[in-house]
Amino acid sequence: MKRVIIIGAGPAGLFAAGALGKDFEVYIFEEGKPIEERTNHVLFNTECECNICDILKGQGGSGGFSDGKLTMTLERGAEKGIFKEEAEEELLKLGKLINKFSPPNKYKTIYPVKIPERYLKNPRLKFESYPLIYLGTDGIQKLIQNYCENNSLNIYYNCKVVDITENKVSFKKDSGLGTWKADYVIIASGGVNSENIKENLKSLNIQTEDTFMDLGIRIEMPRKELKELQDEFYDFKVSYTTDEGLTLRSFCINDGGIVVNEKYDDFVAVNGRSNFKEKTSFSNLAIMARLTKKQFQSGPKWLGRSIVKRLNMAGLPIYQSLQAFLYEDYQYSTNYKTNFKAFPGNISNILPGFLKSAFRKYLKELKKVAPKIINTNAIVYAPELKYFGEEILVDLDWKIKGTNTLYAVGHATGKVSSFISCAVSGMLAAESIKKENNKT
Ligand SMILES: Cc1cc2nc3c(=O)[nH]c(=O)nc-3n(C[C@H](O)[C@H](O)[C@H](O)COP(=O)(O)OP(=O)(O)OC[C@H]3O[C@@H](n4cnc5c(N)ncnc54)[C@H](O)[C@@H]3O)c2cc1C
Repeated sequence: MKRVIIIGAGPAGLFAAGALGKDFEVYIFEEGKPIEERTNHVLFNTECECNICDILKGQGGSGGFSDGKLTMTLERGAEKGIFKEEAEEELLKLGKLINKFSPPNKYKTIYPVKIPERYLKNPRLKFESYPLIYLGTDGIQKLIQNYCENNSLNIYYNCKVVDITENKVSFKKDSGLGTWKADYVIIASGGVNSENIKENLKSLNIQTEDTFMDLGIRIEMPRKELKELQDEFYDFKVSYTTDEGLTLRSFCINDGGIVVNEKYDDFVAVNGRSNFKEKTSFSNLAIMARLTKKQFQSGPKWLGRSIVKRLNMAGLPIYQSLQAFLYEDYQYSTNYKTNFKAFPGNISNILPGFLKSAFRKYLKELKKVAPKIINTNAIVYAPELKYFGEEILVDLDWKIKGTNTLYAVGHATGKVSSFISCAVSGMLAAESIKKENNKT
């Protein structure tokens, strides 16, 4: 039986493992813990002290602490042209798996996708909507547990991969080191450890790309302020392009949720999530700006990284009242927040002028159709980011270009970013391995 080693137990790795089935010897090496041992300390402590970030690492990956908003399309959260036609079949299969392993029906809601007329009247804003299954963090964790148990997946926890070749994986588990041979290796390591993975690939003469990075802010406000908008148009996706050509978009709205910290090697960023059952009295959403190579020739990730570090001077994210961010008006206090692991700071002063002005323009434009979005109780956190590591060049089967048995899937590639698109990329890699295996 051929052996496949998968690095990372996030949605990409787990759904690749499940799709490989029983005809292969499949092992998943995961740096973090099983899902039931992962905790979100942000509500209780004032420091970000986890060595292994429970939000990003462990069974389910960052998907295990996600908001569980599953956008059932491959058009979003994926680079254009990265999915071949057959990917739609995998999406259908994935939808069935989600139905089968999700907690009972009351957890799951599919929201209507028709965009209300009044939003379409503003020519500067582009609204989009897609079918969505919402499970919440509590629901997604159940889904992951049920799926792993049902497929009897072999996951080795506290097992950090330190070196990868096409047919060999070296890892650190507890205090020991080990090296295992494999017929196929799938890198599904997500956005964390991206610097190490990139260096590892470079040592194999595998090229990576720095083409874009999404850098943003997250806004939090009392739940009632976003309710009207959400009742009409849940998880609204609105993009806006400035006259200078910078595109911004709303991202990941969390109704009745919290703002959490994601700990990377040398900085901490924010993100948002919510439970299906237990709601807070706050909602949050991010606004992301896309920095591209075309605009920033020195490299968008290089630029993004330097901005992120400045926003993280005291080792934690910072926050500021939305009024101060927009109007330099400091009389508003910032009492309302769910994240106690962020410091007060001056985001508007730290952001480069072009970004500050783009975020301001976006918000003022959005206010025209959704006036309550700018209110005196709202606060802004930064940084929020997507696509930290350089992109890995993969073909339509998610095999790394120039290799024979080495695959890269999910967020690690920098080509896909949603739970669904990451999971589908893993399933496609599994199908490709099955086909290759049938040939031999
Ligand atoms: C708070 C939060 C909310 C989110 N909400 C949503 C949402 O509502 N909807 C949505 O579509 N997406 C959401 N996302 C994004 C989504 O979770 C990710 O796109 C998805 O999980 C990426 O899947 P992945 O398998 O590629 O990587 P990940 O889920 O990041 O998993 C990668 C895994 O690899 C492991 N790993 C990394 N390096 C190594 C190594 N060297 N050795 C061993 N293991 C390693 C990590 O520990 C991690 O567990 C959210 C993310 C966060 C953090």
